[in-house]
Amino acid sequence: MKTGLKLYDTKSKSIQEVMASDDKSIRIYCCGPTVYRDAHVGNLRTFLLSDLVTRTLKFSGHKTILIQNITDVGHMSEDIVAEDKMLSEAKAQSRDPFEIARDYEAKFHNDLHNLGIDPADKYPRASETIDLMLSLISKLIEKKHAYVGSDGSVYFAAQSFPGYGELSGNRLDSLKPGHRYEYTEDGAKNFHADWALWKSAGNRKEMIWDSPWGLGFPGWHIECSAMSLDLLNGHVDLHIGGIDLRFPHHENERAQSNASEDKEVVDLWLHGEHLLFEGRKMSKSSGNVVLLSDLIAIDLDPLSLRLCLLENRYRSQMDLTWDALKTADLTLKKWREKFADISGEIDLEVVALEVAQMAMDMNLDLDSPRALQKFRAMERNQNISPASKRAIALKIDEIFGLELSRKVVKREPSESALELLAIRDSARKSKDFKASDELRDELHKIGIAVRDTPSGQEWDWL
Ligand code: AMP
Ligand code: ZN
Repeated sequence: MKTGLKLYDTKSKSIQEVMASDDKSIRIYCCGPTVYRDAHVGNLRTFLLSDLVTRTLKFSGHKTILIQNITDVGHMSEDIVAEDKMLSEAKAQSRDPFEIARDYEAKFHNDLHNLGIDPADKYPRASETIDLMLSLISKLIEKKHAYVGSDGSVYFAAQSFPGYGELSGNRLDSLKPGHRYEYTEDGAKNFHADWALWKSAGNRKEMIWDSPWGLGFPGWHIECSAMSLDLLNGHVDLHIGGIDLRFPHHENERAQSNASEDKEVVDLWLHGEHLLFEGRKMSKSSGNVVLLSDLIAIDLDPLSLRLCLLENRYRSQMDLTWDALKTADLTLKKWREKFADISGEIDLEVVALEVAQMAMDMNLDLDSPRALQKFRAMERNQNISPASKRAIALKIDEIFGLELSRKVVKREPSESALELLAIRDSARKSKDFKASDELRDELHKIGIAVRDTPSGQEWDWL
């Protein structure tokens, strides 16, 4: 079943229509957080992507099932070879790793809520789906796509999957031996590009499980194959994640899932580009990490982040700044004041037309900047009545998610600003255009925009 939503598919490098392959609902899988630290605003950009997709699909009347995993075990650190990210954080905090994981998981849900992201249908935890992973690994061994290495870990045999590299472009013959893109013991596997599905526990005492291959823990990539195949019934209509996950995470997931099912499991691979902050990559080591709670701490509406993210196309790299966030915060206030409780005639035809045009932009590869451009043009359009504008804003907000109907206390201008407005009004009425223009500039400087209409002077906050 067609959905009308077209997105850029990383594998075919082209725009493809999202389809509901079972004719009922669109089955979506989005890679979730590794819960050993707070999600930063960049991570949230990627999580917003699945929200925009599901909101756009639901807006056109489709049903969706969205699964987002919680990685609370098994994500190996690139720099700390013998430990994974969860365990190294647990050691640093001298706490139980699962306790830390639950704390960060709760914070993740709180961030999603503050950013207006509708919850996924399920948030399976890696630590609670070990059985699913074990049966998938057994199946892959049976089908000769995986083997037990000399260290007791189970490895996926990359060469057993002929389509390896089709997603990321990293073909096996270009992956040189010694290129460490995946943690492994030296010499334990048959081929340098093979990766671990199950790692034997070795000296590790925490976060380990029993398995047919002895005590151990899962590799990172296997969880997403196991969860998506099980919870989405063997097929994924749309798979979402940040661009850094394209390789090796998604390349390996594709190999595992396709090898298990003997078919192309994922129809469309959607990747969101990264977010920079004040021109720099966000990383803990460089101290350049911004959280949603940092915005809230300085009284910025968390939805100002959502508006900033909407101003940029998901597949372009974006540079976020404090200035942009502050401007977005003011814009949101202005819009909410403008669209608050207006009564009057609503032109249903105009409302339907405007909304359809904005929704069309979202359906065309989530062109949110263009949809916002139309929104702004609508807001300024003198031929659309205030009540119709409100109706348009509230309807398209089902996709934008900016809480445009939220009540705000209208800010009253100061005494001196009211006085300036009165002086300008009389200057204008007495046709003293020079003085009235100067006063308009003065009012502009203090954040007030004046307009002359046939019924007299009107003003609004900038
Ligand atoms: P992680 O918790 O590190 O596994 O990341 C969760 C999601 O955020 C993944 O889909 C990453 O690809 C994505 N991600 C990480 N850094 C950024 C960034 N700076 N901008 C956008 N997405 C990111
Ligand atoms: Zn994943």
